[in-house]
Amino acid sequence: MSFLDKLTEFLSPDQISTHPDQLRVASIDESTLPPVTPVAVVWALSTDDISKVVKLCIEHKVPITSRGGGSALEGSTIPTEQSIVLDLSRMTKILNYWPEDLQVCIQPGLIYDDLNKKLKSDGLFFPPSPGGSGNLASIGGMVSTNASGIFSVKYGGTKDYVLELEVVTGTGEILKLGSRAIKRSSGYNLVDLIAGSEGTLGIISAITLKLAGLPEHKLQAAFKFTDEISAAKAVSEMCRYGVDLAAVEFLDSKVMAALNQLKNYGLEEVPSLFLEFHGTQSSNQSNFETAEAICQEQKGVKLELPSSQSPWEVRHFVTEAIKHLKPGFTIIRNDVAFPISCLPEMVQFCHSQADKIGILMHTFGHVGMGLLHALMLVDKTNQSQWHKARELNDLIIKKAVELGGSISGEHGIGLAHKHLFTLEHGGSVDLMRKIKKQFDPHNILNPGKIFDL
Ligand SMILES: Cc1cc2nc3c(=O)[nH]c(=O)nc-3n(C[C@H](O)[C@H](O)[C@H](O)COP(=O)(O)OP(=O)(O)OC[C@H]3O[C@@H](n4cnc5c(N)ncnc54)[C@H](O)[C@@H]3O)c2cc1C
Repeated sequence: MSFLDKLTEFLSPDQISTHPDQLRVASIDESTLPPVTPVAVVWALSTDDISKVVKLCIEHKVPITSRGGGSALEGSTIPTEQSIVLDLSRMTKILNYWPEDLQVCIQPGLIYDDLNKKLKSDGLFFPPSPGGSGNLASIGGMVSTNASGIFSVKYGGTKDYVLELEVVTGTGEILKLGSRAIKRSSGYNLVDLIAGSEGTLGIISAITLKLAGLPEHKLQAAFKFTDEISAAKAVSEMCRYGVDLAAVEFLDSKVMAALNQLKNYGLEEVPSLFLEFHGTQSSNQSNFETAEAICQEQKGVKLELPSSQSPWEVRHFVTEAIKHLKPGFTIIRNDVAFPISCLPEMVQFCHSQADKIGILMHTFGHVGMGLLHALMLVDKTNQSQWHKARELNDLIIKKAVELGGSISGEHGIGLAHKHLFTLEHGGSVDLMRKIKKQFDPHNILNPGKIFDL
């Protein structure tokens, strides 16, 4: 009996597909890496399904790439040719809800925006919004990449909200990790180990999240600057002075221009900061006034967004706007993270290096946490330009690591940044290999991602 026939013994026909259209969807994520067609797509509906699929895959030596919303940006969701894609997007149930404890237990396929819509009527939310992909990203995918976003400067990233996980390991064993206690001093923190492991250690089948209360009052503001460095300095000063920022997004002048081209917003094409404060009306006003004074020291002045626009509506279209500038060109991106005081240096480095080699560079990001995206638009058919842009991308990542930072503050390593992994982690990669072996002795869980065995 073939592997696919054996799957039909415990899954219904609509849970398995080898249709070329379905295989095509499962062959890519949102990165610009080439597609790889898997053997089949399998939809799990329960923890039991996942465990049985893993056990069968061990028997037949078939690797598994888990897939939530497929919005990953570094190729972590791209399977190998021998793999099945285990799609968790039909596992969207809320399994338990304790509003009085600010906690919820969900299946991994639930989409970020859908969860927050459900929580809103109780005055609660799950804060680490992954920005432009909130309507795509599943919570399982967010845990697996330790996603973060606009509001993480105040509230933290995904892993800061994960209390308990149910995980199916590479042997098919079902483990419960963590507990519903908010604070634990009880043994190794295996929950944090799974967060950010990109589907290489286990398949997450249930997640208990801590939630936050929706703020009583919100205040949004935007400031414009004469140059990128002044905007970056203002951010690092705001952090130094302890301004209580719920969000601070940096957009350079080229990003503002791209937004105008796509959406006709009529924005001033200058480096800008979009801010949001959460608290009471008076605390927000006082934080805003301190932020304004700091911006003024850097010659920053208030930027009026055209009336009906919220900063986040505008921010949402950044990547699309950059792509729209040069149809047919490919985006090379990074998501470096570094100590906040290095932000001006990093911004300057990206722009000066890009100018040197004539590459179109855009910088933006959740800068309050020292996260920056440098996006390059490159004609892939121009081999010399492509090669230079790839080298520059590596140079930017190396610079972040040199400054005491990280290759990835958000999107993970996947396939795209694997070649630089040792640069950041040195000898500890060997320890990671040993850990991987404990969770996945047959190396069937998303093989080839993050590092090679
Ligand atoms: C326009 C746009 C904007 C974005 N903005 C942000 C941002 O601001 N911040 C940010 O952090 N990211 C951002 N991203 C990246 C992406 O949305 C996040 O990485 C997100 O967390 C991925 O979730 P997903 O459900 O789509 O995961 P997928 O792409 O399906 O999977 C991602 C990884 O997790 C693994 N995985 C998925 N589900 C499971 C599971 N149940 N168990 C084990 N492993 C699993 C996969 O194997 C893969 O390695 C953006 C992406 C786009 C396209």
